[in-house]
Amino acid sequence: MAEHVLLGDEAVALGAIHAGLSAAYAYPGTPSTEIMEFLRVWQTRHGAPHAAWTANEKTAYEEALGVAFVGRRALVSMKHVGLNVAADPFMNSALVSVHGGLVVAVADDPGMHSSQNEQDSRFFADFARIPCLEPATQQEAYDMTREAFDLSERFAVPVMLRLVTRLAHARGVVRTGETRPENPLSKPADRNAWVLLPSNARRQWRRLLDRQGAIRSWATESPWNRVDGPGGQVELAVLTTGIARNYFIENAGDLAEPVVHLHVGAYPLPQGLVRDVAARARRVLVLEDGYPLVERQLRGVLPSALVVEGRESGEVPPDGELTPDLVRRALGLEVKAGMHLDGLTLPTRPPQLCQGCPHGDSYHALQLAMAGFERTMVASDIGCYTLGALPPYSAIESCVCMGASIGMAKGAAEAGFRPAIAVIGDSTFLHSGLTALVDCVSANTDMTLVILDNETVGMTGGQPTMVPSSRLQAIVLGLGVDPDHFHVLDAHPRQTEANAEVLARELAHPGLSVVVLVRECIETARAKKAEQAASRGRS
Ligand code: SF4
Repeated sequence: MAEHVLLGDEAVALGAIHAGLSAAYAYPGTPSTEIMEFLRVWQTRHGAPHAAWTANEKTAYEEALGVAFVGRRALVSMKHVGLNVAADPFMNSALVSVHGGLVVAVADDPGMHSSQNEQDSRFFADFARIPCLEPATQQEAYDMTREAFDLSERFAVPVMLRLVTRLAHARGVVRTGETRPENPLSKPADRNAWVLLPSNARRQWRRLLDRQGAIRSWATESPWNRVDGPGGQVELAVLTTGIARNYFIENAGDLAEPVVHLHVGAYPLPQGLVRDVAARARRVLVLEDGYPLVERQLRGVLPSALVVEGRESGEVPPDGELTPDLVRRALGLEVKAGMHLDGLTLPTRPPQLCQGCPHGDSYHALQLAMAGFERTMVASDIGCYTLGALPPYSAIESCVCMGASIGMAKGAAEAGFRPAIAVIGDSTFLHSGLTALVDCVSANTDMTLVILDNETVGMTGGQPTMVPSSRLQAIVLGLGVDPDHFHVLDAHPRQTEANAEVLARELAHPGLSVVVLVRECIETARAKKAEQAASRGRS
C-alpha cells in the first residue's frame, strides 16, 4: 500500500487505473479536466491505459461505450453541463446490459465557479435508474472509483461517480491498493441487448427495472451509507451527502443535544435506513451540496407529520455552494467570527483576457467593422473569448451553451435582424458548432460566423484541439461554405484595420460568410517555448 497526496480528480484517475482501466475519454471542462490530464501523463510514462481528449462529451461517451462493448473497463469524465451533451448515449446506455465496466465521472460546480449553471448530476443518475457514488474525501474518490467498475459489471449498468468542485480541486492523502489487470477482450453474450430496436429496447427496459431491487439492496447495505450517533430517540436526525459530511462533523461537537447522523454516499437513496433514522427523531435536516435531491425524495418516504428541513424548506439557501458556516447556521449554532487581518485589503481582479491575448485584437477588428452599421447582434460561445462580454471590449451579447452561438445568430437573421454575427472558438466549433453550421449552409443564412482560432483549448489550460488550424479550415469549406465568402486572417494587432475591412465587407454580404481569425494563445506559445528551452537544456 502506498500513500499519495492527490486532487479529488487525480484520485478518480488513479482509482480507475488501479481498477484495470483500458481506456478513458473526456472533453476538457472545469472542474473535471484534471482527471484526463492525470491519465494522459500516466499514458505517456507507462504506455497505457489509452487516454484521449475528444470532440465533445457525447463522442467521449460513445467511445467509452465501445470499450465496454468489447468487455473492457472504460472511464468517461466530464463536467456537469457536459452530461447534457452526452445525455443521449448516457440515458440509452443504462438499457444495453453493459458488458465491461463503464464509469461516468461527472464533476458538478455548485456555486458556479466556472460554469453557466449549478445543475446536480445525481438527478441524471436517478433519471437513468443507475447507481451513483458520491465521495466525501479524496480517499473515497479513489476507493469508490474502484468499486464503481465492479458494480457496473455486477449490475450491467453504467455507474456514476459524482464529484463537486471543492472535492475535485482539493488535495488529500490517498492510500492506494493493488493494480487489477485489464479485462480480456470479449463480446457480449447477448448481442440483441445492445440493439435498441423497440422490441429489444422494451425487453432491456424491463431488465433494467427488474435490476432496481438488487441495486436498492446494494445501496442499503453499502458501507458508504452509514449511521452514527446515540441509540434511542433524539430531537434531530441529520442526513448528509458527499462533502456535506465534513462540514457537519466540523460543527457537530458544538451541538448541545446528541443527534443521529445518516451519511449517504451510495444511491439510490437507502429508504430503509432513512426510515429507521427518521423514526428516532422529530426533525430531519438534510445537508447536501447541489439540488435538494434527498430532501425531495424524503418527502415521499417519511410520514408527513415529520419535519423535513433543507434547501427546499429554507434552512439552507437554495443556491450556491454549501459551506461550514451555512451548515452551522442550519444546525442552529452561532456562526463563528472569522479572523480579521487589520489593514490587509486584497486587490480585486475581475476576470479578463491575458495581456496580448489574440482574442482582444480580433474583437477590436470586429468592433471597427461593426461601427459602420446602425445595430448589430453578436452571439458568442464558451471559452476565453466569452470574457469579451466585459469591459473594455463589451463585444458579445450572449453565452448560453457550447455551440449555441451559431444557431442563435441564424435564428436572429431569420427573424429579420441584420447583421447577425456568431463568435466561436476553434475547439467549441469542433465540439458542437459543426452541425449548426450545416444548417446555415443549407439555408445560406444571411449571417457571419467568426471563428477565433487560438490553436488550443485555452480556457481549461491549453489542451490540444482535435484538429490543427489548417485542417479546421478544410473542414469548414468541406461543409459547403462558399469559398468567395470564406477568409482566413492573421489576428495580429498589425492586421487589425485590414481585418476590419474584410469583416465589414462580409457583414454586408447578403448570405453566409465565415471568417477565421488565427493566432496562437500566448499562454500555450509561452509554454511551448519553455518546453523547447528545457529540452535543449536536457540534450
Ligand atoms: S489563455 Fe490564451 S486564449 Fe485565454 S485569455 Fe489567455 S491568451 Fe487569451
